[in-house]
Order: sequence, then structure tokens, then C-alpha cells
Amino acid sequence: MVDVTVIGCGVIGAATAAMLAKYDLSVMVLEAQNDVATGTTKANSAIIHAGYDPEPETQMARLNVEGNRLCKEWAKQLDVPCKEIGSLVLAFDEADLAMINELYRRGVANGVPELKLLSAEELLAMEPNLSHEVKGALLAPSAAVISPWDFCLALAETAVKNGAQLKRSAPVTAIEKIEGGYRLHTPQGAVESRMVVNAAGVFADKVHDMIAPHAFTTHPSRGEYYLMDKSQGALVDHVVFQCPNKDGKGVLVSPTVHGNLIVGPNAEPVAKGDDVAVTADGLAFVRRQAAKSVPEINYRDSIRNFAGVRAVTDQPDFVIAEAEGAPGFIDLGGIKSPGLSSAPAIALQAVELLGKAGLTLKEKENYVFERRETRFKELSSDEKAKLVEKSPAYGRVICRCETITEGEIIAALHSPIPPVSVDGVKRRCNAGMGRCQGGFCGPRVQEIIARELGVPQTEVLQDKAGSRILLCKTKGEDAQ
Ligand SMILES: Cc1cc2nc3c(=O)[nH]c(=O)nc-3n(C[C@H](O)[C@H](O)[C@H](O)COP(=O)(O)OP(=O)(O)OC[C@H]3O[C@@H](n4cnc5c(N)ncnc54)[C@H](O)[C@@H]3O)c2cc1C
Repeated sequence: MVDVTVIGCGVIGAATAAMLAKYDLSVMVLEAQNDVATGTTKANSAIIHAGYDPEPETQMARLNVEGNRLCKEWAKQLDVPCKEIGSLVLAFDEADLAMINELYRRGVANGVPELKLLSAEELLAMEPNLSHEVKGALLAPSAAVISPWDFCLALAETAVKNGAQLKRSAPVTAIEKIEGGYRLHTPQGAVESRMVVNAAGVFADKVHDMIAPHAFTTHPSRGEYYLMDKSQGALVDHVVFQCPNKDGKGVLVSPTVHGNLIVGPNAEPVAKGDDVAVTADGLAFVRRQAAKSVPEINYRDSIRNFAGVRAVTDQPDFVIAEAEGAPGFIDLGGIKSPGLSSAPAIALQAVELLGKAGLTLKEKENYVFERRETRFKELSSDEKAKLVEKSPAYGRVICRCETITEGEIIAALHSPIPPVSVDGVKRRCNAGMGRCQGGFCGPRVQEIIARELGVPQTEVLQDKAGSRILLCKTKGEDAQ
């Protein structure tokens, strides 16, 4: 029997596992998909919110502000791309001006540092590409942008490097109470665990219902996006929000940590938590709304559309609690926005709850919480030359748009959580993330995956289980 099992390896499960791995415990992580960070964690606005949005004195407010600080600190320690560029909430009329004043008040109450209300003149001097209809804005310098999947991966790797076991393609299908804990059933066999953390994202309500009386219901809400080429990446320097509304934080325009521009999302209720379709209507709405803030976005330079699903529940706050009648079974449900920003603080709270439920938290001596990645294009000419001399694979550029070398792809394939798909490689080292979206490098990446993992090319996936790229060998060809 292991001490703790974490169900789900999005950013919440990964952060929790990384924090648990600090202690002398056996930790298991069960993830339904073939990789980490494939749920909501990979498809969101990627903003580390400052924390002026949640109502004061809610746990969301506390966790957001604490999480904002910790995300930036952890990103540094784990070498995760993160830039503190600050955010703006624009006001276009009297009602909006009242709202940004209200957000300022909430932010001050929540302890958000350095908030400032700006006049239209101050704002346009700072961001000349904004609509000249703006009447003012709230500036929050502590907001940041991050690579959300890399943050999740870095935390999952930290857990694994410190001894946690990760089982992928292991969806929990049923849970039984047993003497001293729980038996979690997966298609890869059962896992017995003294305590359990439910970090199953939009499916956390279903996982909760496997062991305890129904307590919360997820109402999935889909958000669709445009990802623009780097040609658009400098249109704004800050994360540009409009005033929040009943559906959330509204449509934003923001630079990404990789220098692109992200535009979105809408908010569309969907029946299924994994409905990540993008729709003509949803995207048209995003374009219309974004034009209000930044009129000159060139959508001919769109390189990708994607959607993510929010874990909206029937409760206003995050659901972070021990499940009724299930000692040591901790729900981390309803982790909608600002869930990414709050992840580190949520993880620390989860560990605290496990401690209160009786888990012994004795710190290990050799816990490692650091990671260094080699990003070839960021090296100096001298460093590049030395690296290529030592390891010639770094001299072969595979992804031309992002200048990603074969050496980086090979390193990703031999990392603590090796990818099994072309998109898994993309999430780890950015190959295929650029303007052509893998049009040129995809087949080369596929070849390298097959070679390095010793599998036939026909088994290499694009992304999730079943997404095979090559379906068979053609006559006379060896698909290996
Ligand atoms: C459109 C949109 C925009 C957002 N923007 C922001 C933002 O800018 N800033 C911010 O702070 N937050 C934002 N969020 C919220 C943030 O993305 C989420 O709060 C966060 O990613 C939730 O992480 P998670 O680990 O709970 O969920 P997920 O990433 O979905 O992870 C849950 C994992 O559990 C697995 N799982 C499910 N069921 C099972 C099972 N039975 N057995 C095993 N595994 C299972 C899934 O496969 C998945 O990998 C946004 C969300 C959306 C949708």
C-alpha cells in the first residue's frame, strides 16, 4: 500500500505530487492520458493572475495571491519560461470605470502589490496599439505569463526525480474503501493507498462520486483561442483584459512567454469536459470582442486555434476539502481560473490537509527542487559551438521556425517523463510550436521518436492514445 495517490497529473496534481515528494512517503500519481499536462493545463490563457479579481476573504483570493508569488519563484527554480509583464484591465465607459475601482479595492484587500489606476493618457502612452476609446485602466505589475504545460511538466518531473511513481494511461475507474485506505481500480491494475488526492480537473466531481456522497457538480465551460504568429507578438506589452463579467475574465489579448500573441477566450457551456472543439461562432465572438481592446490584430497571421474547458462548479470558490465520510480523501475540485496561478498554494494546502488527516510529514534529506534545460537558441555563439562539438546532434536544427535542434529533442525523449507523441515532444522542447506548426519538422520528429524509443514509426502518435499518424507500411517500404 502506498502512502498517497494523486489522481490526475495536470498542474494541480503535479504540484501536489512535487510537494508530497519532499517527505519520506511513497507517492503514486495516476494519470488517465498518455502524458502529463494534456487537460485544461495545456489549454488556457497562461496568465499568472495578480489576484485582484476574487472576492476578498475567499480562499480563492488567498491562494491566488500566494500562488502568484510562488509560481514566479518556482518557475525560476525549475527553469520554466515565465515573464512578469503585468496586466491591464481596460475601462470603456462609466460602468467599467466603477468596475476597475472595485477591482482595485478588492486587490488592495487581497494584498496585491503595486496596483495603480491609470488615466487614458497614461495608458495609451504605455500601450499605443490599444483602442483610443479607452477611458482608463487598472495596472497590476505583478501579473505574469508562463508556459503552463512546462510548469506542470517541471513539477511532475520534480515529483518523479524525488521518488514518486507516475503511471500514465491509468484512468481511475472505481474506488473502494479497504482496511486502512482505498483501492483504486485502473485498466493497469489496482493501487492500494492510505490517502488519496483527487486532482482530476473537470472530472473531479465524477472521481469524488466514486467514494463519497455527491457534493459538487462540474459544469464544463469551453474557451476558444487564437494563437498568433510572432509578427503580432509585440502589439501589446501587457496582458490586456476587459472588465470581468458573469462568464469570467472576458476576452484578453496578451503576449505569450514565447513571443506570440494569444487572443481569447469565449465562454461556452459544453456537455462534456473533454469537448475542446473550436467553432466558427466562438472564434468570431473572440475576434469581435478583442477588436474592442486592440483593433489592429492581423488574423491572417493566426497559426493555431485551440480550446480549453473550465471546471466551473455550482460553488463560487475552489472545492478543497476532505470528502464526507472518506478520511484522507482530499478533493481539489472546481479548480477553474485562477487555478494555474493558485496551483502552488493549492498544493501546499492539500499537503496540510493530508497532514491533518494523519499523514506523517517527515522531510527527506535529499529533496531536489531545481531543473536546468538546454535551450540551444538562447546560448551564446561560444556556448553553441562547445555544445555542438561535444554533442553533434545540437548542430542539426529540426524545427526551423523555433530553432530547435535534434539534441534538444533527444534530451526530451530521455527526460524523467519521456514523451510518447509528437505533441509530447512539442510540449517539452517547442519543436513544432512555430509558424508552420510542425508542417516541416513533424515527420522528422516522428522519425527521431521511433529511433530513440525503439518503436516502429507506425506506433508514434500525434498526441493522445489512438492518434496514429502512419497507419500502415506501403508496399516495398519499411516503416521502421
Ligand atoms: C479557457 C481557460 C482559460 C484559463 N486561463 C487561466 C489563466 O490565465 N490563469 C489561471 O490561473 N488559470 C486559468 N485557467 C484555469 C486553469 O487552466 C486550471 O485551473 C488548471 O489548469 C486546472 O488544472 P488541473 O490540474 O485541476 O486540471 P487538468 O489540467 O485538467 O488536469 C486534470 C488531469 O486529471 C486527469 N484525469 C481526469 N480523470 C481522471 C481519472 N479518472 N483518473 C486519472 N486521471 C484523471 C486528466 O486526464 C487531466 O490530466 C483557465 C482555464 C480555461 C479553461
